Amino acid sequence: MSAAEPTDPEAPDAPEKRYLIRTFGCQMNEHDSERIAGLLEADGMSATDDLESADVVVLNTCCVRENADNKLYGTLGHLKSLKDRRPGMEIVVGGCLAQKDQHGIRERAPYVDLVFGTHNVHRAAELLKLSREQGPLTEILEATVADDAELFPSAMPARRELGHAAWVTIQIGCDNSCAFCIVPAVRGEEISRPFDRLVDEVRDLAADGVTEVTLLGQNVNSYGRDLTLAARQAGDHSVRVRPLFADLLRRVGAVDGIRRVRYTSPHPKDLRPETIAAMAETPAVCEHLHLPLQSGSNRLLAVMHRGYTAERYLEKVAAARAAMPDLALTTDLIVGFPGETDDDFDQTLSVAAAAEYDSAYTFIYSPRPGTEAAEMVDLFVDPEVVADRFDRLKVVLERSALAKHEARVGRVEEVVVEGPSRKDPSVLTGRTRQNKLVHFASADPIRTGTYAEVLVTGAAPHFLRGDLVRVTATATHRTRIPVSSA
Ligand code: SF4
Repeated sequence: MSAAEPTDPEAPDAPEKRYLIRTFGCQMNEHDSERIAGLLEADGMSATDDLESADVVVLNTCCVRENADNKLYGTLGHLKSLKDRRPGMEIVVGGCLAQKDQHGIRERAPYVDLVFGTHNVHRAAELLKLSREQGPLTEILEATVADDAELFPSAMPARRELGHAAWVTIQIGCDNSCAFCIVPAVRGEEISRPFDRLVDEVRDLAADGVTEVTLLGQNVNSYGRDLTLAARQAGDHSVRVRPLFADLLRRVGAVDGIRRVRYTSPHPKDLRPETIAAMAETPAVCEHLHLPLQSGSNRLLAVMHRGYTAERYLEKVAAARAAMPDLALTTDLIVGFPGETDDDFDQTLSVAAAAEYDSAYTFIYSPRPGTEAAEMVDLFVDPEVVADRFDRLKVVLERSALAKHEARVGRVEEVVVEGPSRKDPSVLTGRTRQNKLVHFASADPIRTGTYAEVLVTGAAPHFLRGDLVRVTATATHRTRIPVSSA
């Protein structure tokens, strides 16, 4: 079969190829996957959930999370047995583990057809065609492309999982050097997308019926510092070198039709008063702040190169809560960073208790090859000690999450409907402005993307239960819409 057949008007009967994308890791990767899906669909393919019948399987990898290598090679082993039965199946590996391991992927798994990195996501469909024509291919670029559409996945066609919600990449790369993190090595230095182009993109999304946008960046709240620096270096001395994140929140929040604005992930050291003010003063910006603490020990924060102390972190949290009394606070925490002592861990426990988180992602430290912390082998903490600390931290975090949720019982919350609950399809799941899941029954079918008021009747550490009060705004997006009824 020629590579051009699915879109070739001369071959209308060519069977449509079906693709399946499996995504590992963070929202940045999920967003890249949406763009890869958009490119493959623009090339005539359609999505499938059925691995057994997929013609193209894309693994969009992550090297930030624990056991990333094991997960990838375990999945590839399974795909090899499928490919042995169906030799026409094409296996593609993209993402930051591919960027890091480069040719190592095909050395370990020679049956992989295509490997691409984080800087050439935009070439996914083109590279797939090339690999069909010329044989297996690995293309990893350093961050050297210049065009906006090439650099940023948001500027490419997308297939959104939830029609009413969209991710918008506003910045890629990171200028920090956290000792545990591989991102600067695989994503490169911070580069911000042009301000006006972002606002235009959000306007286009709103015109398409999108009501919620999440602004994405590795270090999202330093957005724009590079733009102002470049303007100043180009001779415009009226420009002050500063992040433009607060300005962007205000402008995006003012776009007609956008009801909710979220962002992730900010860095505590870059959480500035003007960002807090913009959040508080822009009605569309949700009352949710995800602020990664990582550790409560000032000694470890310094070793990690995080650029703040626990006291400074808590001051910023207090300022945000003073400006937004209904703010939900979430975080990331690492347990067992090299050299973590009992005393360091106790400080993490007490800062976590003081911060009163609504929820937290807790990670057991695992070394990422290529990072500074991975070299600290002599300081690795005994896994049994780490497991015990992890359990103790979980108790503290779940206690505060439950208390936060119980405090919401009896309130009427606005939710946007996300579809049937995964565990119990007879109830619907909605998400509040504070990013909390609410499961509730409805006598009538409600379209995903609809806004409704729900009376909160019950609380658990990871979700709320409620009863529908009324629908406040029906969904307006045009994409395929799942429908569910009670
Ligand atoms: S701020 Fe630190 S943890 Fe976040 S992407 Fe940059 S280096 Fe990694």
